[in-house]
Amino acid sequence: MRITFLGTGTSQGIPMIACPCEVCASVDKRDKRLRSSVLVEINGLNIVIDTGPDFRYQMLREQVKHLEAILFTHEHKDHIAGLDDVRAFNYFQQRAVDVYGTNRVLDALKREFAYAFSDQKYPGIPQIDLHDIANSPFLLNGDVLVSPIQVMHYKLPILGFRIGDFTYITDAKTIDEQELEKIKGSTILVLNALQQESHISHLTLEEAITLAQKIGAKETYLTHIGHRLGKHADVLAQLPTGIFLAYDGLKVNL
Ligand SMILES: [Zn+2]
Ligand SMILES: [Zn+2]
Ligand SMILES: [Zn+2]
Repeated sequence: MRITFLGTGTSQGIPMIACPCEVCASVDKRDKRLRSSVLVEINGLNIVIDTGPDFRYQMLREQVKHLEAILFTHEHKDHIAGLDDVRAFNYFQQRAVDVYGTNRVLDALKREFAYAFSDQKYPGIPQIDLHDIANSPFLLNGDVLVSPIQVMHYKLPILGFRIGDFTYITDAKTIDEQELEKIKGSTILVLNALQQESHISHLTLEEAITLAQKIGAKETYLTHIGHRLGKHADVLAQLPTGIFLAYDGLKVNL
């Protein structure tokens, strides 16, 4: 299995439009963060978790030539806005793309991309096969076992996903003990860490570190990073052993 970080930024991305701060002005490539998403390559399948506004560019940058499935964590715009660009994969693969999400997320997709689900389909619209999932393990493509993990994004229950010994969690604020049990034993964990200061719906850096140490994955990579977290190099230097900041384009094999 290979993981590629397609984007590691919060909803605004870094740099944030018109922001004069030192992080947004940084020339370090690792301080350029597109909206959060990962590509998982397993058994010859390409699976993307979330398709934010930067999805098109992320597919071009990583030269992704086929896409078998999309898993959605939740329906916020920074996680779904790029879905329309699956049209290219529809064209070259001559089939719809399989999309997995909870009922609430699929309803949001039908609302936000109503033209793709209308009875009279305009030629060239995205072709999407919706698969309703709940908080229980399912087989993707009849082949890859995916175990959802429910986390709380303030009051909104959303999903993280475990595939083998890889677990991806973004936009969490709290995680129940029983859901934490599902993550334990992961070799690679991805966890969100927005900034240093407290936030109502996202883990802070300190909260993410505490949670990562409790889970005890061999390596934890932090994502969904905001410009107020600080510069990549400065923050990375202060992290405990086994905890890293992810950055766009980073690849991890397991
Ligand atoms: Zn988000
Ligand atoms: Zn800034
Ligand atoms: Zn969100």
